[in-house]
Amino acid sequence: MKILYPDKYYKSIFDVDLKVLKSEGIKGIIIDVDNTIVPWSDKKISDEVFNWFQIIMSKDFKLCLISNGMMRRVEYFSNQLDIPAISNAVKPRKKAFKQGLKILDISNNEVALIGDQIFTDILGGNRMGFQTILVDPLNKEEFFTTKLMRLLEKLVIKRGMYHG
Ligand SMILES: [Mg+2]
Repeated sequence: MKILYPDKYYKSIFDVDLKVLKSEGIKGIIIDVDNTIVPWSDKKISDEVFNWFQIIMSKDFKLCLISNGMMRRVEYFSNQLDIPAISNAVKPRKKAFKQGLKILDISNNEVALIGDQIFTDILGGNRMGFQTILVDPLNKEEFFTTKLMRLLEKLVIKRGMYHG
């Protein structure tokens, strides 16, 4: 079950402690798009999020967006932030994460993965050996889904369906 657990949890991306990441040897951050940096219903990145990315870049972290969303939407954000992005990622499959790793050009234990979903972001990141960071989704409807996923996770543990 460890494969479904994030290494860290924060309420939002703004709470992620960059100093701690640095001290842990993290050199790059792969970050989910929908409901992690922008509500899935929104078309624009907020000023707060834009500024947060500027801070991260000023601290010399490499960055890559990764999304199961469509190319047009993801590339728009990629251009706006001037960060490379992978769309149609089919998380938690490894392929897109490997692409992201190649773009960052660092080793897997130097990557932190930030996302809002356990069964796509966290599962995929853990499978890659990244440090995984779960944040609450920005959209309430999705938040309900995540809550449901967490409930499901507990049920799975109780029933002992998985054995590591
Ligand atoms: Mg998401």
